[in-house]
Amino acid sequence: MVNVGHIPMGGSHPIRLQSMTTTDTMDTMATVEQCLRMAAAGCEYIRITAPSVKEAENLQNIKEELRKRGCMAPLVADIHFTPNAAEVAARIVEKVRVNPGNYADKKRFETIEYTDESYQAELDRIREKFIPLVRICKEYGTAMRIGTNHGSLSDRILSRYGDTPIGMVESALEFIRICEELDYFDIVISMKASNTQVMVQAYRLLVEKLDEEGLQPYPLHLGVTEAGEAEDGRIKSAVGIGTLLEDGLGDTIRVSLTEEPELEIPVAAKLAERYTHRANHSFISELKEYPINPYAYKRRETQEVLTVGGSNVPRVIVDLSRVKVSDYKELKSIGHFYLPEPDKWTMNDQGADFVYTGSSPIEFMLPMGLKEIVDYEVWSMLPDQSNKFPYLTAGTALKLRKEELPVVTAFVEVWSEDLTEELTALLRMHAHFIAVLRTANEHAMPAIRRIFSIFISEGITTPCIVRRDYGAIDNESLHLYAATDVGGLLIDGLGDGILLGRSAAQIIPQKEELDAIKILNALSFGILQAARTRMSKTEYISCPSCGRTLFDLQETTAMIRKRTDHLKGIKIGIMGCIVNGPGEMADADYGYVGVGKGKIALYRGQDVIKKAVPAEQAVDELIELIREDGKWINPMEM
Ligand code: SF4
Repeated sequence: MVNVGHIPMGGSHPIRLQSMTTTDTMDTMATVEQCLRMAAAGCEYIRITAPSVKEAENLQNIKEELRKRGCMAPLVADIHFTPNAAEVAARIVEKVRVNPGNYADKKRFETIEYTDESYQAELDRIREKFIPLVRICKEYGTAMRIGTNHGSLSDRILSRYGDTPIGMVESALEFIRICEELDYFDIVISMKASNTQVMVQAYRLLVEKLDEEGLQPYPLHLGVTEAGEAEDGRIKSAVGIGTLLEDGLGDTIRVSLTEEPELEIPVAAKLAERYTHRANHSFISELKEYPINPYAYKRRETQEVLTVGGSNVPRVIVDLSRVKVSDYKELKSIGHFYLPEPDKWTMNDQGADFVYTGSSPIEFMLPMGLKEIVDYEVWSMLPDQSNKFPYLTAGTALKLRKEELPVVTAFVEVWSEDLTEELTALLRMHAHFIAVLRTANEHAMPAIRRIFSIFISEGITTPCIVRRDYGAIDNESLHLYAATDVGGLLIDGLGDGILLGRSAAQIIPQKEELDAIKILNALSFGILQAARTRMSKTEYISCPSCGRTLFDLQETTAMIRKRTDHLKGIKIGIMGCIVNGPGEMADADYGYVGVGKGKIALYRGQDVIKKAVPAEQAVDELIELIREDGKWINPMEM
């Protein structure tokens, strides 16, 4: 447990919510007003950037004004590159955040060969720069976050560990060891990355290494950096943060969206709240062995059945069982379009792979590339079964005699509550079956992960679809919960497809059902992309903005998105400043980075291609760069 001002974190305290201001720290009143809006939204800790000593000093004015106006939220100073600013801030605010990748190091993007001696000399240099801050924190009762970012590891760490989760962990451990030597323990740790797989692996590895080295089990601050905006930002944050919360890790969260900071808080609250009400979920019995490596991505080995499993990307199945599909136009909501001229079907990058129609099979011919799943009882009576595949409950599958079982690809439902040896034997024997995994357990992700674990331990290579139905919840919760429940499995290589549905009992008009289906289809593709298992759209790695930001991030992101969101699989970094931007977008194919007022630098990977393009031409120039690389395609009109 760590005290951050009057609000403790860790131990049995609730998961704390926090965010960061986007105003210029020297603009006291604008920063105060923004802090007040954040606090009113439920933000428990407020982080403010302090790029230099003058901003660090101004934290005093901000703090005084806030306290005068009744806002007691603990303040956190965000420090990069400037130990002297940290030392000033630590005397004023309740917590300082330092980035071990740049606290005492300048990023040179060089791979320097270090001998053991030169490596140790670097560590000694860091000690010398870092110890004064630790002493000040001890004296003033200030807490500290040691916040590693995947995109800003030091050259020293990169040279020895590479751009890896273990490199991120070691980067923090170097600082933590110094703190413990000085008997300073008011530490919170983060391991943020924009890549959700890297982020999850790094946090898990950190917990393991702290334990292994006998260091304290410090509270964890969870976050996915540069998650983006709108639904995509929420899905990506939930895949990363939600997966760790499901694992029981995480004491405070920050959802980094390219939106106003107060809008991040309700999202963080929804993620955290789910665990406050879940104490009495049904018991999930322990496994004798856990066959999944939590520190590295490895897709579970399966046989290919139809186009599912094996090396196929995970499939999207859309639940149409609650609507009557009588017109081809209704398939538009799942990415399949009929063009009367020239009389052919086409699909966009988010065209569903399968539809599940329950007991109401579609009567017209479906487009190539779209297959239909029908309840077994109805399917078995169909005169024409081409392109249609049966869906069996486990009870039906086990009841049928061997010669009665379908000889075509069949989908067999497996509830975590009903997993028996008889059922696993049936799956093992029938290499043309696909399992559809479900659970009634409120703690769904681990309940389904347990089925996967049993399958792996017992050598069952049946491809598996993860099916989740959600009741009457709002759209934002739907996005966050589904991304957590399914994304948390995909991130560990579990799942060959996704089937999301709404279990609301009431009948709603067909038009509303189709709108809901459209959302579920886009959500399914969004989760696959956020878990980095299937790319179907452009990925934007946009920073949340802060006091260093040199242009309007929301407006610019919207403008870039409008022109490029049809470029499937391309990753574009949109970063507010040159100080941290290039490091933070380590994962991007192209970068759009603020270098000065009205001036933009354009990057290809980590290389600057254009240094100071006027902002009004920068989007055109970015597109030109993509075009030069042969990656530009014209948007499809439909
Ligand atoms: S990239 Fe720069 S502008 Fe964006 S949040 Fe990070 S420090 Fe602030």
